[in-house]
Amino acid sequence: MIYDYIIIGGGIAGSVCAYELGKRGQQCIILEKNSQQSEKVCGGGVSYKALKKLQEIGISVEPLLEVDSKLIKGHVIYKNKTYIENIYNGGKRSLGIQRNLFDKYLLDKAEQKNVHIKYGEKVTCVCKRDNIYNINGFFAKEVVWASGARSVQDKLLREQSIGISGQICAKSNLADDIFHYWYFDEHNVEKYFWAFPIGDNLWNVGIWSRNYDKELKRSYNESVNEYFLSKVIGNWEYLRKPKAEFLGHYDQRNDGLYMKEGIGDFAGCCNPVNGGGIHYAIKSAVKYAIFQLELNNKYRTREQVRRILKH
Ligand SMILES: Cc1cc2nc3c(=O)[nH]c(=O)nc-3n(C[C@H](O)[C@H](O)[C@H](O)COP(=O)(O)OP(=O)(O)OC[C@H]3O[C@@H](n4cnc5c(N)ncnc54)[C@H](O)[C@@H]3O)c2cc1C
Repeated sequence: MIYDYIIIGGGIAGSVCAYELGKRGQQCIILEKNSQQSEKVCGGGVSYKALKKLQEIGISVEPLLEVDSKLIKGHVIYKNKTYIENIYNGGKRSLGIQRNLFDKYLLDKAEQKNVHIKYGEKVTCVCKRDNIYNINGFFAKEVVWASGARSVQDKLLREQSIGISGQICAKSNLADDIFHYWYFDEHNVEKYFWAFPIGDNLWNVGIWSRNYDKELKRSYNESVNEYFLSKVIGNWEYLRKPKAEFLGHYDQRNDGLYMKEGIGDFAGCCNPVNGGGIHYAIKSAVKYAIFQLELNNKYRTREQVRRILKH
């Protein structure tokens, strides 16, 4: 079988892109290196903008409220321990959720649009002959990289930033409908510790720094004690131990020979100021699908499509 698209990576960008293409009758397959149950290292903070974008493309967010997740009304900023600002988003609500639940929901939506999904398929090379791609024995006319911030060659991408995140089961004195952010330095907004609810008595805690910081692990350990565990009532335990991961601040589309088309973290679509990338992953996937279909359906050149989409 020759698919229209092979999509490499079944994270947010990959599943939304496949959903959008599948919706319009394209035959897609997603190749995902991990197993179905694996949890991505992430905060799991899905902004109201991201939720709105999903609704716009026909993905209802209501069922996500029925799994173990939390609606979040706004965010609180602290400078060190001092409370600075409480920002309500005018009734717009975001979501705290475990990434495996969120990703599974999006992959299910793609499957409902006849997208095939293969797990345990790590892509390390792409072959092309007579205009057909052959990836791990699957064939397609086009290939889209949606493999996230980690380099395909597993080389260190110095331009990326790194965050650490873990999930803690605990009852806390912190308000459980708010994103809590602690900034370390008045003048540096590019490093912060967070804690927010992603389920009943379940919290995502983590730290992010835009710039290389060899003390990040130590900062995480100190911050989790000082800002989060000091507010815990009774016992607590890690559901998922803290792990470090890259964030997508570097566009990998021009690395290597065939990596021309990419979305999400792979294409550097991530907020440079706070590291949030879920909304950008959805946006870039939708944009890519629309671009491709304009290009294919109406026999337009790339330049013409770019101009049309600008207006
Ligand atoms: C610690 C941390 C906390 C974060 N917190 C937030 C947050 O609270 N809110 C927010 O908006 N953003 C957050 N982000 C950013 C967010 O996680 C990313 O922007 C988002 O996941 C990007 O989606 P994606 O689909 O591009 O990549 P990913 O979600 O990383 O998906 C890529 C997929 O590709 C697969 N893959 C990778 N390589 C291959 C390969 N070679 N072959 C096959 N499959 C492959 C991976 O297994 C993965 O499933 C955080 C990031 C980090 C690291």
